[in-house]
Amino acid sequence: MSSLIFPAPAPVVAPIQGLEEGFPIRRIFCVGRNYEAHAKEMGSVADREAPFYFNKASEDYVASGRTVPYPPGTKNLHHEMELVVAIGVAGFRIPEGEALAHVYGYACGLDMTRRDLQNAAKDKQRPWDLGKDFENAAVLSAIAPASVIGHPFRAAIELRVNGQTRQSSDISLMIHHVPAIIAHLSQYYHLQPGDLIYTGTPEGVGPVVAGDVLEGSIEGVGRIALTLGAAE
Ligand code: MN
Repeated sequence: MSSLIFPAPAPVVAPIQGLEEGFPIRRIFCVGRNYEAHAKEMGSVADREAPFYFNKASEDYVASGRTVPYPPGTKNLHHEMELVVAIGVAGFRIPEGEALAHVYGYACGLDMTRRDLQNAAKDKQRPWDLGKDFENAAVLSAIAPASVIGHPFRAAIELRVNGQTRQSSDISLMIHHVPAIIAHLSQYYHLQPGDLIYTGTPEGVGPVVAGDVLEGSIEGVGRIALTLGAAE
C-alpha cells in the first residue's frame, strides 16, 4: 500500500498536568458497579468476586472544560463521576503486586450515560453500547502523573451540577481497587500505554439537561468540568 484512500484520523490526545507533551489515548475500559451504594441505586448487587467491563471508543473523548451538545437519542442523560487510571507501561497477566508500576497517572472522568438506552438494552438482554459508547461520552481532565501525585487510595470524589452536590463519596469505597482491576483486566487484554480505565462511579448518579454545568473533583488528582449545550 502506497497511500490511504482518505486521511487517517488524528490521534486522540489528552493533556498532562505540568507537561507540554500529550497523552495519546488508546482504548477506554470502564468498570461497572464498583461501589456498593451505586450498585444498590441501580437496583443491582455488586459482584465482589471480579470486576466487569464495558468499553468506549477513544473517539468518545472530550476534554474537560468544553461545552458539548446534549447527545442524540436520549431523554435521560446521566453523569457518572469516576477516577480514571492512565496506563503508561504495557503488560499482560500483571500480578496485583506489580500493577501500580504500569500506571502513568490518574485523572477525573465523567462516564456520560444515556440511561434510558442502557436500561432498555438491559431489559432486552442486549449489549449496552448505545447507552455508553457515544460521541462526547468520555469526559477527561488533564492527567496527573503518578510520579507527581503518587497513587491515590483514599480521596474525596465529588460532582456538582449547577453548584449543587450530586455525588460525594471516597475512592477508598471502591469494591475492586486499582491494582486488582489492572491484574484482572490484564488477564484478558495486553494492556498498552495509552489505555484508560474508568474505575466506576459512586452513588448519586442522575439526569442532566441542556444548560447544566457539571463540575467534579477528586482530592489530590484534579478537577473536571462539562457544560451541556442544546441538542443538535
Ligand atoms: Mn461508569
